[in-house]
Amino acid sequence: MFRIFKPKYPVILQSGKHAMARSAIDRPVLDILHRLRKNGYQAYLVGGCVRDILMGKKPKDFDIVTDARPRQIKQLFRRCYLIGKRFRLAHVYISGDRFVEVATFRASVDPETVNGGRFAANNVFGTIDDDALRRDFTVNALYYSAVEDSIVDYSGGLNDIKKKVLRSIGKPGDRYRDDPVRMIRSARFCAQLGMTLSREDYKATRECAVLIREANASRMLEELYKILRCGSSAATLTNLVKFGLLEYWLPELAKEKYYDSLTARLASIDNRRKQEEDIPVCVLVAALLYDLFIDALDENGAQRGFQDTFALCTTQFSELASRMRLPHREWDRICNIVARQGIFTRINGSQKWKKFERRFVRNAYFDDAMLFFEIQAESSGANTEEVRYWKRKSEEGRREAAPGAHKKEQPAEQKPARKRRRRRRPEKTDEKKELLVQNGDTHAG
Ligand code: ATP
Ligand code: MG
Repeated sequence: MFRIFKPKYPVILQSGKHAMARSAIDRPVLDILHRLRKNGYQAYLVGGCVRDILMGKKPKDFDIVTDARPRQIKQLFRRCYLIGKRFRLAHVYISGDRFVEVATFRASVDPETVNGGRFAANNVFGTIDDDALRRDFTVNALYYSAVEDSIVDYSGGLNDIKKKVLRSIGKPGDRYRDDPVRMIRSARFCAQLGMTLSREDYKATRECAVLIREANASRMLEELYKILRCGSSAATLTNLVKFGLLEYWLPELAKEKYYDSLTARLASIDNRRKQEEDIPVCVLVAALLYDLFIDALDENGAQRGFQDTFALCTTQFSELASRMRLPHREWDRICNIVARQGIFTRINGSQKWKKFERRFVRNAYFDDAMLFFEIQAESSGANTEEVRYWKRKSEEGRREAAPGAHKKEQPAEQKPARKRRRRRRPEKTDEKKELLVQNGDTHAG
């Protein structure tokens, strides 16, 4: 007797049998999918956009995969640029500055057999089956064909979406050992999507958490930015602690005494991000690290002037900044933001002060420092009066600087003539000289 073996996957859900809302897909994206198909190639939407639409959320962007090779993709679209060194993929522009990423199906390669190892090895073309298996979580490996209006599911992602479970494709321990960054992604996805990590994944994460120390720092920084911008950064932080990841990723922050204030600042950032407010990276990272700076300042005697605070931040935390791979430019801005915070609460009515504050609000770092001050005030419930005061001053400053008035000063690193000499140091403008006077600080520096 023969028994016909029917593989469990892929499951294909035809039109009408799934909840994918076609109306949620931008017209130009559908056009790209159709053009690829018309020219004899396979073409699917994949990843976050399919997952988000199925969960009733607005997708951040659209990713397309196809069996067409990069050069073949380029031939089909007028405004198409090939990018990437290791793995070439196409950016097809759908308007002035908006593009859709179109990638060729990729296979995962055994890291042992390829120089560079780990995730770096993922650069070999493959079939849709290969492509599905190399992805991180089942909910991120759903393929939507616009021409058939069907969904292809290779690993049970549809069911996991229904159950709200985040599950690795394959054995979680192997997948996390191959690429530890996936554990960080799981903390974000669980928070962002309101999902629970599968029991096997949770167990594997606790076991593999230490591998985060060896993860590629630049990719970790990218994931950090994604966390801080995702609108659920406070809940992601909670997950990072719960999964045992924070203590290996950013051990300085993994202290209970920071938890409440950090979570409150992140919650304030999340509220703003949910309303699509654009928050500069330097403000986001300053919010993450602020308690560390404050602790260091307290230890070294509070009431320091701008120059001292700036110097303390840059020197005491330079190792952390380079470990995090923070670009010099961002790090300089972060230290400038933090060093300016003391000024916001030092309002007085003297003539000297009046003169100083006019320059202060016109300084290039003011907007970022002010935004951070607002976030800190919002999350701590303190300094609401001062926020109002500085908003008013900033408004007055803007009006004064309107047509015909002086331009804002440029940050030191943007002044070509001074770039090399002053990049990591605060420029000693008249404003800062005045500041030293204000603080009674005679420190040179
Ligand atoms: P988001 O909405 O946050 O962008 P996303 O799922 O689109 O979520 P991306 O980082 O944009 O996340 O990645 C796109 C897709 O690429 C993912 O859905 C996943 O299928 C795959 N992917 C990304 N990073 C990894 C990784 N480290 N390992 C395996 N697959 C990955
Ligand atoms: Mg994405």
